[in-house]
Amino acid sequence: MAPIADQDYMYDLLVIGGGSGGLAAAKEAVNLGAKVAVLDYVSPSPIGTTWGLGGTCVNVGCIPKKLMHQAALLGEAIHEAATFGWQLDPKAIKINWEALRTAVQNHIKSVNWVTRVELRTKKVEYLNLLGHFKDEHTVIGVSKKGEEKILTAKNILIAVGGRPRYPDIPGAVEYGITSDDIFSLERAPGKTLVVGAGYIGLECAGFLNGLGYEATLMVRSIVLRGFDRQMSEHIAEEMQQRGVRFVYEAKVKKIVKQEDGRLLTDWVDKDGEIHQDVYDTVLFAIGRRSLTQELKPENAGLKLVPETGKIDAVNEQTNVPNIYAVGDVLHKKPELTPVAIHAGKLLARRLYGNSTEKMDYANVATTVFSPLEYGCVGLSEEAAINLHGEDEIEIFHAYYKPTEFFVPQKNVDRCYVKVVALRHGDERVLGMHFVGPNAGEVIQGFAAAIKCGLTIPKLKSTVGIHPTVAEEFTRIFITKRSGMDPKPQSCCS
Ligand code: FAD
Repeated sequence: MAPIADQDYMYDLLVIGGGSGGLAAAKEAVNLGAKVAVLDYVSPSPIGTTWGLGGTCVNVGCIPKKLMHQAALLGEAIHEAATFGWQLDPKAIKINWEALRTAVQNHIKSVNWVTRVELRTKKVEYLNLLGHFKDEHTVIGVSKKGEEKILTAKNILIAVGGRPRYPDIPGAVEYGITSDDIFSLERAPGKTLVVGAGYIGLECAGFLNGLGYEATLMVRSIVLRGFDRQMSEHIAEEMQQRGVRFVYEAKVKKIVKQEDGRLLTDWVDKDGEIHQDVYDTVLFAIGRRSLTQELKPENAGLKLVPETGKIDAVNEQTNVPNIYAVGDVLHKKPELTPVAIHAGKLLARRLYGNSTEKMDYANVATTVFSPLEYGCVGLSEEAAINLHGEDEIEIFHAYYKPTEFFVPQKNVDRCYVKVVALRHGDERVLGMHFVGPNAGEVIQGFAAAIKCGLTIPKLKSTVGIHPTVAEEFTRIFITKRSGMDPKPQSCCS
């Protein structure tokens, strides 16, 4: 067959997946003059949850999670308010799940609507179709009714993200839910078992506990794999102290629905002993699966990483030269919204704007929105030591007391900062870790400083803002090597 001339393709760029990465790339490409279409289709979760345009972050990820986290923080703040003189009846303070869910869902729907309007205004064609490859330039889009549409494009961008996994055990799919369902759950979650101790599991268990629901977190091995170990343990200990029950080295074996609708759950501990408990909700947060198999990648000659189903792209270009990928589908890249957005924008600029700027995946900051938040950027203590050797690494650390914690006598035991730096030469900062209130807000600015080559002398010469929690980084001087006590210095000296 003769090759198709560029002008005979229906689109310059066809994006499969209207989430963070896909939409960012589509909007940027259209701004640069390309003809663009976006396919976005949400297959319902096993219990039937579905949602609108915008992908995981907007509908079932960052946004609803942050709002529920905020709801939990407000509950905490209301209780603290009494110590600052507010006259409240503590017994009257309780969450109305239906009101919270409705408020969260209304916000999401408004974002879905704004996204659709924006695409229309920018003249990005939005197609509510489930796409798969026919060949490297052709995608078949299938509608909800099963009708097929054939779409051709010079370039195709895969931005299909992922969906939560379920364990292969009886009752998991029938009765379990995931982060796809929790934020729109019709009934209050009640007593909940959260299975999985990655950041999503920790965050869900944290806000559920904060909202007043009994929460148990089941941990197969360690919490927050891939994060700094000491900081991760701080987070886990803090959550336990706040009332989340942690069950370590355990696995769910079976879920049976009782006549009263509650879930009789069997789980096995490390010694092989079977335990039983009854929950209102079992939420699986055991990892996510990329939606790449459904694309029929073999029709386009597209290779996937066999173990993960992810795409090992070089500068977002796959092994098929006109097929690109961004976001959560990429092999060994951070699964975060701003990463998908940034990579998508830069790719569009390279394809249609004569840019040569490539995505830099290093030193991306992130935050775990646990009840006491954990923000970090750069290397963990372990990663730095593995990379450079213990002799070459200096760890600065300090516990601190946020001013606002004194009056309500909040627990300060785990308010802790850590800076990982090279010990010699320019003493470059390699990683910064912060556990405390507003960790995301604190760490964002320091991430920019690290991008600019922050060193320990520069950090020490930075004058802090008093009284803030972020200033603790500028007061840091104790090294782990010194053996000095990192417990809080006095407030104002
Ligand atoms: P997505 O946003 O997942 O978009 C993919 C879209 O493609 C979806 O709409 C999907 O339905 C659609 N699609 C899939 N297959 C097809 C197909 N064949 N045809 C058509 N459409 C298809 N990140 C942060 O940065 N901060 C956070 O605080 C944060 N919190 C999170 C909390 C939770 C509970 C979860 C689950 C994720 C969170 N994330 C967070 C991660 C973030 O949501 C993702 O990294 C981001 O959404 C990835 O964007 P993406 O473009 O790769 O894919």
